[in-house]
Amino acid sequence: MPDALKPGSVVGILGGGQLGRMLALAGHRLGVRSHIYCPDPHSPAFDVTPLRTVAAYDDEAALARFAAEVDVITYEFENVPARTAELLARLKPLRPGARALAVAQDRIAEKTFLTGVGVPVAPFAPVDSPATLAVALSSLGYPSVLKTTRLGYDGKGQRILRSAEDLDTAFAALEPKPLVLERFIPFEREISVIVARAVSGPVAAYDPAENLHQHHILKTSTVPATLSAASAAEAIGIATTIVNALEYVGVLGVEFFVLADGALLVNEIAPRVHNSGHWTEAVCITDQFEQHMRAVLGWPLGDPTRLADVVMENLVGDEIAAIPARLGAGQRPHAYGKTEARPGRKMGHITHVRRFGDEK
Ligand code: AMP
Repeated sequence: MPDALKPGSVVGILGGGQLGRMLALAGHRLGVRSHIYCPDPHSPAFDVTPLRTVAAYDDEAALARFAAEVDVITYEFENVPARTAELLARLKPLRPGARALAVAQDRIAEKTFLTGVGVPVAPFAPVDSPATLAVALSSLGYPSVLKTTRLGYDGKGQRILRSAEDLDTAFAALEPKPLVLERFIPFEREISVIVARAVSGPVAAYDPAENLHQHHILKTSTVPATLSAASAAEAIGIATTIVNALEYVGVLGVEFFVLADGALLVNEIAPRVHNSGHWTEAVCITDQFEQHMRAVLGWPLGDPTRLADVVMENLVGDEIAAIPARLGAGQRPHAYGKTEARPGRKMGHITHVRRFGDEK
């Protein structure tokens, strides 16, 4: 590991949300300091490290000062502006690299990349006008899902089209253009694989998690997922193909649809630690946050082995009040330190740990 950064190094993290906070906490355990860059002065990550920059993501002077104060740069959200990524990558190693960002920021680039490396996705077509939407529907049929290509999250920026009556309003409502039409997939379940790749190439993947959403927000991740051994191995194989093809460094989340016959389609990838991987913190030898920091530092990856069965439950909005009343033995709480519990806001999670051999 000739290029491994030493303990005492400073990792710059773009983004100050809970993911940045949990990365910084993991970094501190490794003896690494984290410098958080975020425009919002009330960011939860600021609570856990004294090194901070409060500035806009396009403030070039602030970005240059930040780069000068850190040894390596990573990020906790995929919508880092391309120009910001380019500017920083010229000054310090940016891990994961700009290519992973470009691919993950744009659903058409993402699906084109995935298809190009042999990874199955839902049939799709780019849409930039009512006329191209009509053409796309003639091949994909109803129902289909119309999505923005950029800046969608937690189900925002998409509409299901069930008949010709839905077209004009959906096309007009979704911004920014261009859009992408996807065939509606009658999936049986949704799973995700959290995978990591080190600078020197080794890859480590966690067991697939089964994900349930409520109001378009992740509610629970359960491991093991209800999945055949063959589908689990295939999901991990696909995640490995993706990180290798991107020459990726760090942790990446891959979301899949599982069809009735066990076939897998990739829905999307996230070039960062992922909400559906929070359970790793409670039950894996090396959790996703430490894993990401190790990769970014040029260190060897840790062991992703899972030591117990687990359900991670997100606490959204007022549900955060459940801590501490709902805590029993075997439940690990994690609160993100957000002061305002707005509806739909992810405030924390509880991980329910079930030791192997415990009764269900
Ligand atoms: P996304 O923003 O692409 O992750 O989509 C959010 C959620 O919408 C997914 O987790 C699915 O539950 C649902 N969804 C997205 N795309 C499709 C599709 N093509 N077919 C069926 N459901 C979808």
